[in-house]
Amino acid sequence: MKLGVMGGTFDPIHHGHLVTAEEARVQFGLERVLFLPNRHPPHKDPADVTDPEDRYLMTFLATVSNPHFSVSRIEIDRPGASYTIETIRALAARHPDAELHYITGADAILQIMRGEWEQSPELLGMCQFIAATRPGFTLDLQTLRGSNCTGRTLDNVHVMEIPALAISSTDIRSRVRTGRPIKYLVPEAVEAYIAKRNLYGWLTPSGSAARG
Ligand code: ATP
Ligand code: MG
Repeated sequence: MKLGVMGGTFDPIHHGHLVTAEEARVQFGLERVLFLPNRHPPHKDPADVTDPEDRYLMTFLATVSNPHFSVSRIEIDRPGASYTIETIRALAARHPDAELHYITGADAILQIMRGEWEQSPELLGMCQFIAATRPGFTLDLQTLRGSNCTGRTLDNVHVMEIPALAISSTDIRSRVRTGRPIKYLVPEAVEAYIAKRNLYGWLTPSGSAARG
C-alpha cells in the first residue's frame, strides 16, 4: 500500500496544499494521503504560530470532502518540536506494510537536501519523496538526486509538476491582517473558521475595518 504523507504548519491550510496532495495521489497512485499538522515547527517561535488545535481543525475542515484524505494528530499530540524524522519512524512502525511517500513543496525539499532538517540524511533514506514545483523555486531532478547532504545519489526522490499556485500561508495571513480577500485561496470552511475564531487579526463586523 502506498501511503502519502504531507507535513506542514498549515497556518492556515490553502489550495496550494490541497492541489499538491491530490496531484501526488493521482500521479503516484497513492491509496490515501495523511495530512500532519505539526505542533511546533522547529525553526519558528511558538508565539508566532497559531494554536495547534486551530490549525488541526482547519486542516480537518479542508480535507473532509475528499475520501482519500485524512488528518493525523501524531505531531499535534507529541510534546516538543515536531521533527519529521520522528514522525516517519512512528508511521513506519504503525503501518509496516505501507510504502511511505513524503510530499513536499519545492522550498521544503531544497531545505532537506541541504541538510537543514533534523537528521536530514537519515530522513532521506527512510521513504520516497515527492517534491512539487512551487513558484519562486527551481527544482531540477538530476541536481536534487545527485548533490545533496547524503553524498549519495537518491533514486527515491521524485519531482512532480503541478499547476503553479503562488499561494502561501504567509500571504494569506497578511491578506487577513490587511483586509484583503482570501476567498478562493482557501476552502470556504477555512475562511469561515478564520472569521469565526478571529485568527490573523480578522476584524469582526463591529471592528473599525469591517467588511462583508
Ligand atoms: P508559510 O508561508 O507559513 O511557510 P506555506 O504556504 O509554505 O506556509 P507550510 O505549512 O509551510 O505552508 O507548507 C507545508 C508543505 O506544503 C511544504 O512542503 C510546502 O513546501 C508545501 N506547499 C505550501 N504551499 C505550496 C504551494 N503553493 N505549492 C506547492 N507546495 C506548497
Ligand atoms: Mg512554508
